[in-house]
Amino acid sequence: MADIITLPGLIDPHVHLRDPGQTHKEDFFTGTSAALAGGYTTVMDMPNNLEPITTLERLQAKIASAQAQTVSDIGFHFGTLGDNFDEFEKVIDLVRGLKIYMNVTTGNFKIDANVLIDIYKAWPGTKPILLHAEDDVSDIVLETLEAVPKLTHICHVSSEAELLFVMKAKEAGLPVSCGVTPHHLFLTEADAERLGPYGHMKPYLKPQKDVDFLWRHLDAIDIIESDHAPHTREEKDSDTPPFGVPGLETMLPLMLTAEAEGRLTREKLIDLLHDRPAQLFGIETDPTTKVEVEMTKYEVDNDLLLTKAGWSPFVGRKLVGKVKTVYLRGTKVFEDGKVLATPGSGRILA
Ligand SMILES: [Zn+2]
Repeated sequence: MADIITLPGLIDPHVHLRDPGQTHKEDFFTGTSAALAGGYTTVMDMPNNLEPITTLERLQAKIASAQAQTVSDIGFHFGTLGDNFDEFEKVIDLVRGLKIYMNVTTGNFKIDANVLIDIYKAWPGTKPILLHAEDDVSDIVLETLEAVPKLTHICHVSSEAELLFVMKAKEAGLPVSCGVTPHHLFLTEADAERLGPYGHMKPYLKPQKDVDFLWRHLDAIDIIESDHAPHTREEKDSDTPPFGVPGLETMLPLMLTAEAEGRLTREKLIDLLHDRPAQLFGIETDPTTKVEVEMTKYEVDNDLLLTKAGWSPFVGRKLVGKVKTVYLRGTKVFEDGKVLATPGSGRILA
């Protein structure tokens, strides 16, 4: 029999569960089911819903929908286009962070660069600001951080230039952290060609030299974030395929496979997927929230995925590490491919 290892329940601060508004792609039940299947017991959902989560009212509607369906713990990031500062104080106790899009992505949600500093000044308290900021906007990010040094998490760093920016900002003593996605660690622009629309995402997949740079500087990376972004096959096969790929169910086996290949230690893996995200986003951890993983080799199979999207850019890849059992605060919530928890039994992080 294959070895079984035990890990703490993983924490992903960056997912798009599409609920409310686009529940044909994913909903809180299927999205958090995929989370459990991937070894995650806590996820944090992004605000770029069809109607962006930029008001207390929309946030409350979203939380109500999650409360009825979620099988993992779930938190929320608030959104802004720079015109909803009155809402910040009203929502600050209900969210884990503020997400700002400085580059084009899913939904019409990009801010003007000159608004960034005003948003920084208006954001109350100490919860992190999360930035989608690719290297073309790094100057304005640096200026803003120097003027208003608030805790900032740079999402999905994908290139040498972007990671160098984070490394330099850290060296300068600025309060910056960063995340990298599994697709930017395990796929390159050559895969983008092979995968067509199924490798279409923001930031784009990068040349091998950028991927190599990320691996060589793993110590500069704070967390791995899935950026789980489900879309239907029909949408991906259309003339205008949307950005993003599902990732919750493949992240841990990809990282455990890398560990087996000697690319990182178990200690670093746990730090990237649990300890550091807990620290950055203020998540209380519990030793009875844990994951048992069978260290067996298997092939990623679209038909076995629990995400409503039903496909993975890693389909066909042979990986080590299959999530067998998941416990949330001592209760068995997932076993052998099946969710045991009842919808709504997960906790809302406020
Ligand atoms: Zn994202």
